[in-house]
Amino acid sequence: MLMNRRGFVVRTSMVTLGGCLAPSALARVLRADQILDWAKVTGHTKAVVNLALGGNSMMVVSGGEALVIDSKFPYLGAALREDAMTETGGGGVSLLNTHHHGDHTGGNSAFVGRGKTYAHPKAIERIRGQIDNYRTGAEAAVGQVSQNLAGNKRAIELAVEVADNAQNLKAEDFVPTDAVEGGSQITVGELTLDIHHFGAGHTDNDIVVHIASENVVHTGDLVFSGLHAFFDPSGGYSTKGWIKSLSSVLELCDAETTVVPGHGVVGGREIVENARSYLEQLVEAVDAEIKKGTSKEDAQQMTWSFMDGLGFEQIKGRAIGAVYDQIKGS
Ligand SMILES: [Zn+2]
Repeated sequence: MLMNRRGFVVRTSMVTLGGCLAPSALARVLRADQILDWAKVTGHTKAVVNLALGGNSMMVVSGGEALVIDSKFPYLGAALREDAMTETGGGGVSLLNTHHHGDHTGGNSAFVGRGKTYAHPKAIERIRGQIDNYRTGAEAAVGQVSQNLAGNKRAIELAVEVADNAQNLKAEDFVPTDAVEGGSQITVGELTLDIHHFGAGHTDNDIVVHIASENVVHTGDLVFSGLHAFFDPSGGYSTKGWIKSLSSVLELCDAETTVVPGHGVVGGREIVENARSYLEQLVEAVDAEIKKGTSKEDAQQMTWSFMDGLGFEQIKGRAIGAVYDQIKGS
């Protein structure tokens, strides 16, 4: 277990499953009924930073309202919403998805129809098309809990409920109803959230949330902090666009900005710089191998010094392959 400079706990180990990141074995100790270990980020924000529980969710709370950014896996949607309702005392709770991947939208059905639910138009389309992914995720819930939250009664209850209902789930249960694009603003109590979309990057529907008054940015999966980046060939990614998007994210940050990444530890602007540098060096290394005539399969087995110490080792070959294909195709 690692701890970053702001005290966020980092846990490692994860596997990829059908285009989304899924948890693997992890022992955790929490209070009896607590499922999500929220850590304070700024005065009005907190986050769950735990590699085994899907994308990093952030909660924004102000004036009796709460917005949850990203809903993790199917069995965690209700837990996220319950925690938000506790904050608001039953007041308005809304949801925003940073992009369509299943480890950021799996819990959407706990929110849709019960308040505003925001995503990029292309995310909305893609979420509508991936009901099989959500059913599979729901069916896997009991296994996930037994690995990650063993002994947590509330988590087991939620997992059993979600798994029993898996085949009744409909696409519309997961589809956000409120489209946001670059330039949109969302109000949560006294706070204004600026929504950014910098074009195709990690996917074709990445949203970055900036709360200037809190000096905090949630980058979604444009940033994997201390980890290999996850590439999804079917999600409309662009390696060049991803690098460009990260430069645009940096324009939102000053020396004091707190950055919540899609996965991995919370930090400052340096985690954005590191993510950009990883992609730049990956492109450079893979391009050099292509010029030498190295096959894709051989390149995928390689490793370079800039990768030293990164987590999510199991998705390294996938990242190399995706960049290889994109360079070859361009
Ligand atoms: Zn993603």
